[in-house]
Parts: sequence; structure tokens; C-alpha cells
Amino acid sequence: MRYAILGTGMVGRTIAAKLAALGHEVVIGTRDPQTTLARTEADAMGTPPFARWQQDHPGIALATFADAAARADIVVNATSGAGALPALEAAGADNLNGKVLLDIANPLDFSRGMPPVLDPVNTDSLGEEIQRVFPDLRVVKTLNTMNCLLMVDPARVPGEHNVFVSGNDTDAKKAATELLVSFGWPEKDIIDLGDITTARGTEMLLPIWLRLWGALGHADFNFHIAGARTGS
Ligand code: NAP
Repeated sequence: MRYAILGTGMVGRTIAAKLAALGHEVVIGTRDPQTTLARTEADAMGTPPFARWQQDHPGIALATFADAAARADIVVNATSGAGALPALEAAGADNLNGKVLLDIANPLDFSRGMPPVLDPVNTDSLGEEIQRVFPDLRVVKTLNTMNCLLMVDPARVPGEHNVFVSGNDTDAKKAATELLVSFGWPEKDIIDLGDITTARGTEMLLPIWLRLWGALGHADFNFHIAGARTGS
């Protein structure tokens, strides 16, 4: 499969490296490849510059959002919350229509300080916004409720724990589920919540996730839904 990962941060890099290791063709999308490659400093979160990471992953190309999306069968949104719609608009509806979009982003707004707030929230979600703006994109919200290292290596946390999928398109959710299984997620631990409006619930797990991160002092934890008997 050919994947486009929109986003050059920790999430984009982690998903891209896993997909490449599984034998997929992977292109990472960014606003301006030259600018991204020219960065020499770590970002505010301490993420090393992209060019340094790419030295260890020479098979993963960097392209504009549009070029990355144009070549892909499946697109992954790993941009910041505020960057998601601008990135998808830059990717272009013609390059996205009909494709599956795995949306991992959370609409965290840091502009009012810490902890961040969610925007949109309660009666809307980023997943729904994306689906509304791109009605022919087959949006599946997933993996947004855990740290990125766990997304591609669920065994980092011992025992049973869960990943959620939300989306309107049954076949797109099937493709997402197959991908999650290839990442190591047991099918029984994948909970299909229903249509894309259910992304409100998983995005609204972020406030408690962030507080748990602070309280526990590490990110190797996840939600386990006791009593969830099936993956459907
Ligand atoms: P991030 O720093 O949140 O986002 C970086 C990406 O966003 C970059 O590719 C950047 O583009 C793009 N971006 C920012 N503003 C933009 C704009 N105005 N227009 C277009 N693109 C824009 O990266 P991250 O920490 O890897 O997180 C990615 C997403 O995953 C976030 O939504 C986050 O909430 C979610 N998430 C993160 C984790 C985690 O473990 N960190 C876990 C679950 C969910 P350029 O490449 O051009 O700079």
C-alpha cells in the first residue's frame, strides 16, 4: 500500500517508520519541504529536527501535502489540531476524494495556556469537521487516545487495553482495523464506536489523558474498557 502521512512531528514520524517497516511505501507531507529540512533546532516539545530523523529513515520521502496525498492509497492525518484543515486543504480535495483518512489529530488549543482546551468540543469534533469539509473523504478517527509509541507497539503496555475507531464508512473502518491489527492490536481490543460523531467522545478523552500523564509521570498507559466483550 502507498501511504501519505500528513505531519512531520513525533506522531507522523512514528507511524511512517512503522508503516515502512511493514513494507509499505510511505511519503510524509509537510507545508514546505525545504523549510522543514532546513530546521536545525528541536521544537518546543524537544522533538529533534526532521532532517536528523530522516537520516535514519532514508526510504521515507518528504513532499508537500499535495504531492504526498496524490501518490497515496491511504492518508493519515498527524498534524496539529489547528493545522488539520489547512493541511488537508493544501493536500487538495482532488488528491483526497474517495480515499481513507485515518485522523489521529486532537483539536488541542494551547493559546490560553496549559492545560490546553478542546476546540471544537461537546457538540462537534475535529473528525466531524474534516468529514463535513471533505464529504468524499472516508474519515476514520482512531489512535488519538494514546501516546504515539503505543499506537504502533501496543505491547508496551501489558495486559488488555483498547483502541477506538469512529467513522461513517464501514469499509474504511475495516481498512483501519486491518492496519491496527498489523500494528499489533488484537482485534478484540479494537472498539468500533459508530459513526464519526463518536469522535467527540474520543477527542474528549484528552483532558483526562493529559491529567493522567501528569499524575503518572509517564505516557506508557492506556484506557481499558472493562466488560467490552467484542470488537464490534
Ligand atoms: P504537532 O506538532 O502537533 O503537529 C506538527 C504538524 O502540524 C507539522 O507537520 C506541521 O506542518 C503541521 N501544522 C501545524 N500548523 C499547521 C498549519 N497552520 N497548516 C498546516 N500544517 C500545520 O505534531 P505531533 O506532536 O506529532 O502531533 C500530531 C497530532 O497527533 C496532534 O494533533 C496531536 O494532538 C495528536 N496526537 C499526538 C500524540 C502524541 O503522542 N504526541 C498522541 C495522540 C494524538 P509542517 O510540517 O509544515 O511544520
